Amino acid sequence: MGIVTTYRRAFNAKKLDPYPIEILKRVDRPTTVVKEDEVPRLDERESGFNRAARGDFGTYLSKERHRFVAKHPLSGALVNMQFTLSEIVDGVTAANKALLPDDPGAMARHIKETAYFLRADLVGICELPPYAVYSHDMETGEPVELDHPYVISIIVDQDYKTASATVGNDWISNSMSFVAYSTSGFIACILADYIRRLGYCARAHHARNYQVVVPPILLWAGIGEMSRIGDIVVSPFLGPRFKASVVTTDLPLAVDKPIDFGLQDFCTKCMQCARYCPSGAISFGEKVMLNGYEKWPNDVEKCTAQRVGNKEGAGCGVCVAVCPWNKPYTPFHRFVGWTMRNIPVARRFAAWGDEFMGYVKPKLEHKWWFDLEDVDGVLTVPEHAGCRGNNKPE
Ligand code: SF4
Ligand code: SF4
Repeated sequence: MGIVTTYRRAFNAKKLDPYPIEILKRVDRPTTVVKEDEVPRLDERESGFNRAARGDFGTYLSKERHRFVAKHPLSGALVNMQFTLSEIVDGVTAANKALLPDDPGAMARHIKETAYFLRADLVGICELPPYAVYSHDMETGEPVELDHPYVISIIVDQDYKTASATVGNDWISNSMSFVAYSTSGFIACILADYIRRLGYCARAHHARNYQVVVPPILLWAGIGEMSRIGDIVVSPFLGPRFKASVVTTDLPLAVDKPIDFGLQDFCTKCMQCARYCPSGAISFGEKVMLNGYEKWPNDVEKCTAQRVGNKEGAGCGVCVAVCPWNKPYTPFHRFVGWTMRNIPVARRFAAWGDEFMGYVKPKLEHKWWFDLEDVDGVLTVPEHAGCRGNNKPE
């Protein structure tokens, strides 16, 4: 739980959310055009990582895919927890329903309070879009049947201090991803179990056991907007520096609405992620219609090759590190965020301002991790320790 959450809990007990989501502009539909009848249900077996594993991108990436998370001992430990959590995403629903308020608004508030109690950083609720359900189970290959009407998004921050010390292309990137995957997965598994004990069906979905595609859910739940990075949703409070797990359920819940904080215009002008992406996977061009979404196209093969095959680190995440929305939640950055949300002309200066203020350069004094690589079971200090700084002895 971040300092923002602690502060708001302590000094504003009536406040539900740790960030002031009430100041955001709510809209009826996501700011990305979505033609629901044209969005196909995806097969997770066709994701970039799974294609890399089965050799679609060559033998080197196929081999690396099996070690790329575990090649650093911390991300290895974190992903190990994901395997444990994947065993407990579902279970038996209590035979009797608990005596609860017959009020979806009250229940939505209670579920959010519970998720925040379990240490979520942001929570949003929406109806489950049918097209967000994967067509086939990744492990078994069986068709996925999921008829839960509601979905709860659980967001966990990857940690600003760590993000400020990395450029992404180094040995902590996968750990940043998986601390948020594992923690949000932990919360989702407990929340789903709690809902089942109340007498309603619920299933947790997290990085080792998703039955749903998460980005469209985040859009409808008002967590953020679709960005130039591609299928990555950016939050006005966390930027792209988060991961999400979700819980699908038949517990009746009031839903949130999508948000508009000007990101479509911002990403049109900014392009910082495209400038710094080491693989050239992010487009400098215009949005296109793709699978029912009007979005910036990203090159999945290039991104996967960079993350899986990275010889200078474990993963990547440069785009997360350099995005101007990746900031600490201080009074100064709250003011800048307000300006960027409300004064479109100011967005022209955001990328330049970040360069001028030195935000793109990592703060090496914040670096706390060791750069280590597991090579055939032996931990070594890597030859290449990312773009910036390392713990390699002179
Ligand atoms: Fe580019 Fe790295 Fe982001 Fe992939 S993770 S889009 S390679 S910056
Ligand atoms: Fe959008 Fe700029 Fe962030 Fe890329 S770096 S996602 S263009 S705001």
